[in-house]
Amino acid sequence: MIQADQSQRYRAITRATIAKRPEWQRLPRDLREAIETVSLVLPFRTNAYLVEELIDWDNPEDDPIFQLTFPQRGMLEDDQYARVRDALGRDAEKAELNEVVNDIREELNPHPAGQMTHNVPHVDGEPIPGMQHKYRETVLFFPSHGQTCHAYCTFCFRWAQFVGDESLKFANKEADQLARYLRQHPEVTDVLFTGGDPMIMKTRVFERYIEQILDIESVRTIRIGTKSLAYWPQRFVTDPDADDLLRLYERIVDSGKHLAVMAHCSHPVEFSTDVARDAIRRVRATGANIRMQSPVIRHVNDDAGTWADMWSTGVQLGLVPYYMFVERDTGAKKYFDMPLVRCWNIFRNAYQRVSGMARTVRGPSMSCFPGKCHILGVTEIGGRRAFALEFLQAREPDLVRRPFFAKYDPKATWYDQLEPFSKADEPFFVSPDDRPTAELTVEGLRSN
Ligand code: SF4
Repeated sequence: MIQADQSQRYRAITRATIAKRPEWQRLPRDLREAIETVSLVLPFRTNAYLVEELIDWDNPEDDPIFQLTFPQRGMLEDDQYARVRDALGRDAEKAELNEVVNDIREELNPHPAGQMTHNVPHVDGEPIPGMQHKYRETVLFFPSHGQTCHAYCTFCFRWAQFVGDESLKFANKEADQLARYLRQHPEVTDVLFTGGDPMIMKTRVFERYIEQILDIESVRTIRIGTKSLAYWPQRFVTDPDADDLLRLYERIVDSGKHLAVMAHCSHPVEFSTDVARDAIRRVRATGANIRMQSPVIRHVNDDAGTWADMWSTGVQLGLVPYYMFVERDTGAKKYFDMPLVRCWNIFRNAYQRVSGMARTVRGPSMSCFPGKCHILGVTEIGGRRAFALEFLQAREPDLVRRPFFAKYDPKATWYDQLEPFSKADEPFFVSPDDRPTAELTVEGLRSN
């Protein structure tokens, strides 16, 4: 382990502590009010590393990391914002304030894409709420100790997990349930540890989960979904158990499995510090592979130059560009989202600017109810404009990689706003309400 000085100790900054920071006084009053108000509804956590090293306080409103981690006025509708302000202004009782806040959270679609109802697997007839099995080969596991992050992204579709409502958590304390499920399902080759951020866990806790599955041969790849290379790279460099974590990574690699760190990278500035580059070097030295992925979001990374720079710098540092996602239909989506056609233009303009080494990236992709829907582009059929689409992943494997079309809609920001271009495309448009109408899937396709 590299010795940590005081500044390398993790220090969270939250709604309760932000006003003590020197940077707080530099913010205009309306921005401070917005942060105080919106952070009652949406979770807010940043940390001293981001605030001191990555945010430009001369120009915070245009700063990508400020936008990424600080709540903004536009994240709530005017009437939602007014309801919270009104309750605060009247010094409402805590119970009343909570009711206002909870009502607004419900309005923000806390569980998109049928997450709570459609993806929960069972072991011996018992549901395992800390797991999701959406695609045949891949299981998502939400360790109960990894249900938070070193900072919270303001756009995050997991925001409902962070706001303290136990019924909304995917917590699962039973690592052995995971192992039992995997033994009963040899078709699962990939386990994705996700959260929150599993790298928030102490190494000895994470190790408990890993040890249960290391000898399951059908599991070939262990993926770790994390934003800690960006939000707290010290996790791999100076944290007290950083070296133990790297040893554990080596053990996974030595066991013959592929270890993939699915790094959430939003902006090239995240690679700019020495400690971030050290962290990348140290992780790669274990034999782990780092893949980079992120949503494209307004105010943070909504231009092609940013993406081209991020992919090229990532490749230079040894990362593999993997996915550009479209912002999901939850939380503060309206503040961040963009028409699908704009997302596609950003993607292709960025793609044109990078070498073949960075063209491993796919996107823009929507993780919607039926699967991962890839926007191939805008085209014309019989004189009418259309979106060309395909599923890269699907609950119904037979839908994967079949091109299909939607009517062109310049305003559409999400899959469920699209309409089939023709009758032949209808089987690809499945919503949670349609399931389980079997004829909408493979059978529907075959009859067309
Ligand atoms: S790091 Fe990932 S899970 Fe955590 S807030 Fe950001 S997007 Fe959400």
